[in-house]
Amino acid sequence: MVIQLHAPTVKPGSPIQANVSLARLTSFRVGGPAEWYAAPKTLDDLHECFEWADTHSVPVTLLGAGSNLLISDRGLSGLAIGTRYLRRIHVDRENAQITAGAGVSMAALAWKAAYLGWSGLEWSVGIPGSIGGSVVMNAGAHGSEIQDILVQATVLSPQTGEISRRVVPDLGYSYRTSNLQGSHQLVTEATFQLQPGYDSAVIQAQTREHLERRHATQPYHLPSCGSVFRNPEPQKAAWLIEQSGLKGRRIGGAEVAQMHANFILNRDNATAADIFNLIDYVRNEVYHRWDVLLEPEVRMLGPFCAA
Ligand SMILES: Cc1cc2nc3c(=O)[nH]c(=O)nc-3n(C[C@H](O)[C@H](O)[C@H](O)COP(=O)(O)OP(=O)(O)OC[C@H]3O[C@@H](n4cnc5c(N)ncnc54)[C@H](O)[C@@H]3O)c2cc1C
Repeated sequence: MVIQLHAPTVKPGSPIQANVSLARLTSFRVGGPAEWYAAPKTLDDLHECFEWADTHSVPVTLLGAGSNLLISDRGLSGLAIGTRYLRRIHVDRENAQITAGAGVSMAALAWKAAYLGWSGLEWSVGIPGSIGGSVVMNAGAHGSEIQDILVQATVLSPQTGEISRRVVPDLGYSYRTSNLQGSHQLVTEATFQLQPGYDSAVIQAQTREHLERRHATQPYHLPSCGSVFRNPEPQKAAWLIEQSGLKGRRIGGAEVAQMHANFILNRDNATAADIFNLIDYVRNEVYHRWDVLLEPEVRMLGPFCAA
């Protein structure tokens, strides 16, 4: 147990703020406050945040775009570090590679590649995550995944302050995860290999098609985290949930989406507890009916307990 003799304080001008609401920083739009929060704009700010956390012995949680997170109504203790201002983009035309900061959105990167007439990111345009979160989660859609196009990720190890470049074999990738998950190491930027030489209008049209297909098949306009459960291959979580008769099932303000059964929506001022309890309910129902225990893809942060 860490005993703190003095409550942590921050210097004037520090990027660290106390008691910041996290609900607005997640796609579910739920969750309590972070005890401390910072969104560093530079690597120096980032180092300062980690040093501060180390000095005051407070735990650190890393947040990307918050599109795969369920944060407890009781919030997070310690320091939450958001990457949304790490937005540098560098285009290497000679090698058809793009390097993007952790806080760049997948959509921005996909459109950047499309305008250049470079193929390889069309599938990712509808993923509402950041580069950092997507590298960590090995985000994927339509048969493609981040690991297919990643050249290297730049990773900061807070314990040592060391910055290292990791290539795909270093990252322990598998379906929607990597060995960076839960490691407390922070992806600061990542470089992707694209295929050049296409007509930009064609790549733009294909990118738009991916987005339209998503809007037609997923409840995009309501707060969610996308797919709640990993697919228990070869089965599909959505099919198992739908066949269990759970579409439209509600707990409080949370609802299993009619349009896509693997989505849970914050339909009407849901709390994180409503969503957590609905996830638990769906898991139990599917288990009893199909003998398959669904594993959540969504990352749950902070204290939760089943009703
Ligand atoms: C409508 C909707 C549709 C979606 N569709 C898809 C889809 O088709 N395919 C898919 O794969 N996902 C999908 N998702 C889920 C989500 O967008 C992806 O998992 C995304 O890659 C998460 O990125 P993020 O920046 O939001 O990460 P967050 O949700 O903020 O974080 C996810 C995890 O990554 C860690 N993390 C975040 N940034 C960093 C960093 N820089 N360094 C180290 N760790 C970090 C966090 O600590 C957390 O453990 C969807 C979500 C929504 C809301």
